[in-house]
Amino acid sequence: MFKTIEDEVLKKAAPAALQREFAQYHFERQRRFCLLIYIASIVIWLVFDLIVSFLGGQRFTYLSPVFLGALSIIAIILGFTHKARHFHRLNVLFVLVMTLGVRMVTHGLPVSLQPAWLMLGASSILYSASVLPLSRGSFYCSLIIIWLVLNPFYGTDIELLGLKGAMAACYSVFLSAMTLYSFIKLRQARLYAYIMTKLLLDQAYLDTLTEIPNRRSFMTTATKQLQARPRKRAHYLAMIDIDNFKKVNDTYGHDIGDLVLKRIAAAIKAVMADYEYARLGGEEFAVYLSEVSHDDVEHLAARLCREVREDPSEYPVTVSIGLTRVADSDSLNQALRKADEALYLAKHSGKDRYTFAA
Ligand code: GH3
Ligand code: MG
Ligand code: MG
Repeated sequence: MFKTIEDEVLKKAAPAALQREFAQYHFERQRRFCLLIYIASIVIWLVFDLIVSFLGGQRFTYLSPVFLGALSIIAIILGFTHKARHFHRLNVLFVLVMTLGVRMVTHGLPVSLQPAWLMLGASSILYSASVLPLSRGSFYCSLIIIWLVLNPFYGTDIELLGLKGAMAACYSVFLSAMTLYSFIKLRQARLYAYIMTKLLLDQAYLDTLTEIPNRRSFMTTATKQLQARPRKRAHYLAMIDIDNFKKVNDTYGHDIGDLVLKRIAAAIKAVMADYEYARLGGEEFAVYLSEVSHDDVEHLAARLCREVREDPSEYPVTVSIGLTRVADSDSLNQALRKADEALYLAKHSGKDRYTFAA
């Protein structure tokens, strides 16, 4: 089953909006990791800068604090960055400053060692970029900047056709291809895992027939609203049941019964759009109305009864609604029981009406 759904998902290209949603989700989940990578990179760079400055004799010039300051400011900005697209741009800046900082440090090394250390710097930054939640554009920009600034042939003594040069060129191409491939594949795998999870969650929390939230969804969302404090206004719970629905099935058949269920779900969705509504099962629906007045609830219940009653359909039905005010001390199940008792009263006083719990 999982494999069949997965094959279906993999066949389709992910729409741009879903890709943006994924990018944001991925960044939010990995924000701390990004910050950790930035801080670790700055510390490693500083250690090498100090070694080259003091043991290598480069001397600690004003450039070191300038780079350290710039990198630290970018890391601080990351701490306040919450949008993925801002992070994608910020990372390009971070890579630019970091590569310039690495170039500055390698200047303090003997010329013969410089190409190897430039490539070490490039591979470290490239690897870090490949594990960050970047967009493809941001990663490609980073790749270009890394090889432009840390090009081992620029300012060094190696030549492309010499032994060292040929090795450096081959390694650079190999490294770039490897990281690019793993970045794209990892990103794709994460994107599809995200789409799969979203799809399965949607299916788990949606009623397949009426396409409105199901009981599982209602128990979660209504419990959350019930527990929200402080309450500025009252909370109410409504239980809605189709009147004589068995007769609809018996007279017109189960398929028409299903159509009627969909119609009632659509009416509830339209009237109760601002509240948490769901199909609890069978021909029973519930709505959790938070922060409302008694008058609001009466008005909404009357409107729903009227719209269902006056719907010009070949298969007319009516609904009964049981209402209860949710006390501060009520659990959701207690409130559901009270609403059910009110529904019983509505059914036994003639149906096609709403009744408040005693
Ligand atoms: P009352 O006015 O007292 O509510 O009477 P009723 O006939 O609506 O109540 P009852 O609970 O006896 O009947 C509910 C019916 O709903 C029985 C069942 O066949 C039908 N039903 C439950 N789920 C579905 C469904 O998914 N599709 C269809 N077509 N019918 C369903
Ligand atoms: Mg019924
Ligand atoms: Mg029923």
